[in-house]
Amino acid sequence: MRLILLGPPGSGKGTQAQRLVQKYGIVQLSTGEMLRAAVAAGTPIGLQAKDIMAAGGLVPDEIVIGIISDRIDQPDAKKGFILDGFPRTVPQAEALDELLKKKRLKLDAVIELRVNESALLERVEKRAAETRARGEEVRADDTPEVLTKRLASYRAQTEPLIHYYSERRKLLTVDGMMTIEHVTSEINRILQALGAAEPKAARRASPAKRSASGTAGKGTRAPAKKAAAKARGAAKGTRKVATSARKARKTVSKAAKARGVGKAKKTARQAAKRPAKKLTKKRAKR
Ligand code: AMP
Repeated sequence: MRLILLGPPGSGKGTQAQRLVQKYGIVQLSTGEMLRAAVAAGTPIGLQAKDIMAAGGLVPDEIVIGIISDRIDQPDAKKGFILDGFPRTVPQAEALDELLKKKRLKLDAVIELRVNESALLERVEKRAAETRARGEEVRADDTPEVLTKRLASYRAQTEPLIHYYSERRKLLTVDGMMTIEHVTSEINRILQALGAAEPKAARRASPAKRSASGTAGKGTRAPAKKAAAKARGAAKGTRKVATSARKARKTVSKAAKARGVGKAKKTARQAAKRPAKKLTKKRAKR
């Protein structure tokens, strides 16, 4: 499984990435972490990045692209990875496409954690207070002033990636304002619907929409998912239900086909199957 987590600083990418690491046994590749380690070790890259990072700016593309390319080649990344904090610019995304192509690797999805900006400042202040309470040092770039700058840079340079991946039908949006638990289960549901994850709970299909506009809004309440849910819950026996179930199967299989994901198709078919079956029985009775 290869994923990108996209979202502004403080949106919870790191937290969600760690949870995915635990659940799926893949690695989290955080350019921020790698750069901080380079700064702490005083490597040439660290020396180049130190002041830029402290000021909330972006480290040059070539540096982060090089770091990521090397890291993906490590044996522990063979099973899959989650990119956290990379790509952050369109040239980085293009370079990533290129290097994945060269390495013959496929990206499964880009998950955007959509958050309300005004809540971010609060979150970052809370994170800093918790770090201080643990007796640890607060990151130089985790202050409200630097965060404001990082948010501006996110808006200007990283937000265009929403459109970039949306156009490539890779983008899935999750409401990052939900609780950590809810965000995690939403992400897991998406991954299962895509067939990117082990289909442990394959019966509970909830195919997520690949946003074509980049404005998918809240969560993954996409038509395909709604249709499947409608189909699941509508075993009440009216003719309307038959139409819903048929529509659900059609929409869902169309979505899965567009993505070329076999498992998603299968999962979606299972979801749409139930009411249709019941209806067939009812019809047979009649
Ligand atoms: P993060 O931990 O992802 O918030 O990253 C912390 C800092 O590292 C950022 O504010 C940037 O200065 C730098 N950084 C991390 N990832 C990238 C990237 N992909 N491109 C450029 N700079 C980055």
